[in-house]
Amino acid sequence: MGSRTRSKNKKEERVPVDDSKLNMGNTYSSPPQYYYDINFDCQDCGVHQVWTAQQQKWWYEEAGGYFFSGAIRCRECRKEEQARKKKARINADHEKDT
Ligand SMILES: [Zn+2]
Repeated sequence: MGSRTRSKNKKEERVPVDDSKLNMGNTYSSPPQYYYDINFDCQDCGVHQVWTAQQQKWWYEEAGGYFFSGAIRCRECRKEEQARKKKARINADHEKDT
């Protein structure tokens, strides 16, 4: 007895948004105040993923991710996608040089 009951929910992962660091593009929507864990299925392989609030914060505020880019792929598929884009970019650069 004594100490107050802990919150009824299990610890809900909630991370405050620092909107001064966000890359909002040219949208007029305002960002939410908090990041929450996002559950989604990978667009490419369909595997179930959790994109945690902490990861979102890092992605949007440190990595400069476009705020409304959202989560569509799992880590593995994202890696493949990045490799594909990188290759495409290298090819494009080569074309420019010639
Ligand atoms: Zn995937």
